[in-house]
Amino acid sequence: MTKQAKNVLIIGAGGVAQVVAHKCAMANDVFGQIHLASRTKAKCDAIAQSVADKGSFKHEAVLHTHALDALDTQAVVALIRQIDAHIVINVGSPFVNMSVMDACLETKTHYLDTAIYEDPAKICEAPPWYANYEWKKKEAFAKAGVTAILGVGFDPGVVNAYARLGVAYFDQDTVTDIDIIDINAGSHGKYFATNFDPEINFREFTGVVYSWQNNAWQTNQMFEVKRTDDLPVVGVQNSYLSGHDELHSLHKNLNVPNIRFWMGFGEHYMNVFGVLKNLGLLSEQPIKTAEGLEVVPLKVVKAVLPDPSSLAPNYTGKTCIGNKVKGKKDGNDEEIFIYNIADHKEAYEEVGSQGISYTAGVPPVAAAILIATGEWNAGTMVNVEELDARPFINLLNQMGLPTRIQDKEGDRLLEFSL
Ligand code: NDP
Repeated sequence: MTKQAKNVLIIGAGGVAQVVAHKCAMANDVFGQIHLASRTKAKCDAIAQSVADKGSFKHEAVLHTHALDALDTQAVVALIRQIDAHIVINVGSPFVNMSVMDACLETKTHYLDTAIYEDPAKICEAPPWYANYEWKKKEAFAKAGVTAILGVGFDPGVVNAYARLGVAYFDQDTVTDIDIIDINAGSHGKYFATNFDPEINFREFTGVVYSWQNNAWQTNQMFEVKRTDDLPVVGVQNSYLSGHDELHSLHKNLNVPNIRFWMGFGEHYMNVFGVLKNLGLLSEQPIKTAEGLEVVPLKVVKAVLPDPSSLAPNYTGKTCIGNKVKGKKDGNDEEIFIYNIADHKEAYEEVGSQGISYTAGVPPVAAAILIATGEWNAGTMVNVEELDARPFINLLNQMGLPTRIQDKEGDRLLEFSL
């Protein structure tokens, strides 16, 4: 790489981008200029105002804002060149991943995202999902010597690092099960809302559920398989076997026969989801109304639901996201839990977003810092579990997302001396 300045371009201006912008500003001793671009510039300006109001910049600076259609590769290329971006943090909708990646390849700019690419016209493609799109560009990134870190939010992202650490904790090749559990025990006070883009949220749960069991893909229906755990801070919680991005890289990169993802849902969410789905209102396929108007039902539902970022001011309660890992330690069977607890209200007070956006937005900034300092300069395309998890976990501990571990020694902060 020949670029000297560590300028950052953030793409998207939703709840996650709000967190990314604040956290980049807090680390602007590492970065150069910080730029924010999205379809609607007014949303970028509102985030820039919030960063200024909260005095988030470590060294005095301004957040530069731009209007950008990130589906237009050449527009992204032009902006990257105009601002001399060194790293792009893509926290726009997952529909823009491939065009942004192409722009990064063309300009030799490092790339980070927090969700797998989705084709708007398709739901739940054949596994492994990364092989359908992102991994096809792996060779091009390697050839260009450019780093692309895929899915570096919380889940996917931090939980991939937890999976790697879990495997390293146990005797070699003895891990049999990794269960990733995502519980939001918070309350937003609305009749019904999703914590991130409703379109993406529902698309995750309308298809068949893929999980990795006995070294093969298994399929189930959503809400078919339930588990109950007594978890730290959030207590006894139900969660359901769900399909999720991280399984589609972890099964390949870690030698573990069973890797599952479990998402917590309340009865009310499940009821409303069931009604919407059974009525056909979660379909991604266009329909025509009697008046001849063509609409995509899922997009209509999104339009009437609360904007996820509007939930932040009144959100209370905590999230618990972590990995239960089973294997043999010194020859004995053991299960450990590596996890984080985040608090919605604390997140809002610090950066003006709710806890889900916070857990998703802090990790890509930690990853960008590790790229800027050279610790995570992979020079190719990677998923998070392919990188050394230790500096990442240490940095997250300092940035507001502490990791804890429960094992036979007790419950404690997980940190590493490097
Ligand atoms: P939002 O829907 O709130 O924000 C998405 C943003 O992307 C919007 O500002 C939107 O612009 C912008 N956008 C959409 N299309 C384009 C385009 N063509 N060009 C430019 N900008 C565009 O989502 P969130 O902030 O909640 O989530 C952001 C990302 O983070 C998503 O990919 C989501 O899946 C991911 N995520 C990851 C998590 C993790 O732990 N790994 C957890 C939560 C989210 P506009 O507002 O103008 O329409």
